[in-house]
Amino acid sequence: MLTKCPRCGSEKIMQGELSGLGGLVFVPENQNGIQKKSSYISAGACKDCGAVFDITLTDKPSKLTNK
Ligand SMILES: [Zn+2]
Repeated sequence: MLTKCPRCGSEKIMQGELSGLGGLVFVPENQNGIQKKSSYISAGACKDCGAVFDITLTDKPSKLTNK
């Protein structure tokens, strides 16, 4: 988790989730089966310049693979 804005260097950082209708999820390609695995996405945003960064899956990436 970043504590400084990579664009302007501000330390006024908000943490949040990327959200759309029903929640925005990341779904890996090349999955077998009907039930696709997916993860919600969290991100940081700068209160000074509005940059969004540090976009990260909220689940461990290993949970999204079939192996
Ligand atoms: Zn900034």
